[in-house]
Amino acid sequence: MIKISCAEILCVGTELLIGDIVNTNAAFISKRLASLGINQYYQACVGDNPERLKAAVKAALSRCDLLITSGGLGPTYDDLTKETIAEVLGRELVLDERSLSRIREFFRRRGATMTDNNQKQAMIPRGAIVFDNDWGTAPGFAVEDEELGKVVIMLPGPPRELEPMFDTYVMPYLRKFASEIIVSRNIMITGLGESAVEARLRPLMQAALNPTVAPYCKEGEVRLRVTAKAKTYEEGLRMCDEMVERIRATDVGQYIYGIDIDLEHAVVDTLRSLGLTLGTAESCTGGQIASRIVDVAGCSDVFVGSVVAYSNDVKVKLLGVSPDTLKKYGAVSEETAREMASGIVSRLGCDVGLATTGIAGPGGGTPEKPVGLVYVACAYRGNITVDRLTLSGTREHIRRLSSNRALKMALEVVKS
Ligand code: ATP
Repeated sequence: MIKISCAEILCVGTELLIGDIVNTNAAFISKRLASLGINQYYQACVGDNPERLKAAVKAALSRCDLLITSGGLGPTYDDLTKETIAEVLGRELVLDERSLSRIREFFRRRGATMTDNNQKQAMIPRGAIVFDNDWGTAPGFAVEDEELGKVVIMLPGPPRELEPMFDTYVMPYLRKFASEIIVSRNIMITGLGESAVEARLRPLMQAALNPTVAPYCKEGEVRLRVTAKAKTYEEGLRMCDEMVERIRATDVGQYIYGIDIDLEHAVVDTLRSLGLTLGTAESCTGGQIASRIVDVAGCSDVFVGSVVAYSNDVKVKLLGVSPDTLKKYGAVSEETAREMASGIVSRLGCDVGLATTGIAGPGGGTPEKPVGLVYVACAYRGNITVDRLTLSGTREHIRRLSSNRALKMALEVVKS
């Protein structure tokens, strides 16, 4: 059997080069290869040009044992992937009767007319292993070249076809080449920056070879990816979980809000398990906390609603913030944040009330209240917790960090 030690992905399409579409196929396939433990050192993109495509295929095949292409399997004249690669591999294209009847059936079921050029999609390199396209017309296929010791897999471009085809047919096909599998767990952290996390865990991270531990930064959050290589999935998972527990026991542990989960899912799951409901009163976040919660499907048993209280008038009328408080302390103050949080709880009758008020910038700051000053409050069972944040960055970043802090605060408050 051909031995695969490393793979490359080559995405074909001029639209990718001019930025018309984002190369999601490369990201999707990369994740799958990583989960199979197949290394990838290069990845490329090439336009619909036969000469450049040929050169890109040859270059890739000089470096890797498994080449996966996406795109260019369509019926039109500029869909050249199959023809070009067949030429490089010295294979003729032959009609695959089974694929042809599937394509005919595809058109028949839709009541559409099949044109002659659709037949082109049923042509495959001689001896190729076909991956049925149950989601469109062009099948994918793998060409195994024993002499060269290479495998070339060609897949259709549309993600709605490539992704299910990959998971249904290509993954089982590739598993026969994989000697080890890779299992990952993501430790989700908020409230501590990437460099602070790294500084606290450096010796552990440097010593960890299997599983490895690597930090990734994502919009005010840090993710530690723990990755194990093992013979079985269960063994890999056990290795990862042991490392997760070791990290939990360090001083980074208190900043971990979940494993393989994002903040909004963690909040919805936690509140649901405690039978609690949530409402938000948002000034500088402008409904972002509510929107993130609503991203979680089925959140309606937890989330009751939100008031976007941007003006003082709305803070007073809809949340019951006292005009005296606003006058004395200002809209961006601990006192206003407190009244907003307790106001949303009493107005909406929810258990947990989150509130934000701050200066997201770029204008509007003063020496006493600079851009980035944000108060986040959480009301729960008659107590109100308030945090004063001094953030920096763009308006978007400040708002995102504020909503992160609010969500994390809800978790902390109900767990304490
Ligand atoms: P079709 O039979 O639909 O023509 P195809 O295999 O010829 O499929 P392309 O024509 O190259 O594929 O691409 C079809 C569409 O698929 C593109 O317009 C784009 O929307 C999407 N697509 C192609 N390549 C990628 C990619 N790498 N990442 C994300 N989307 C892609």
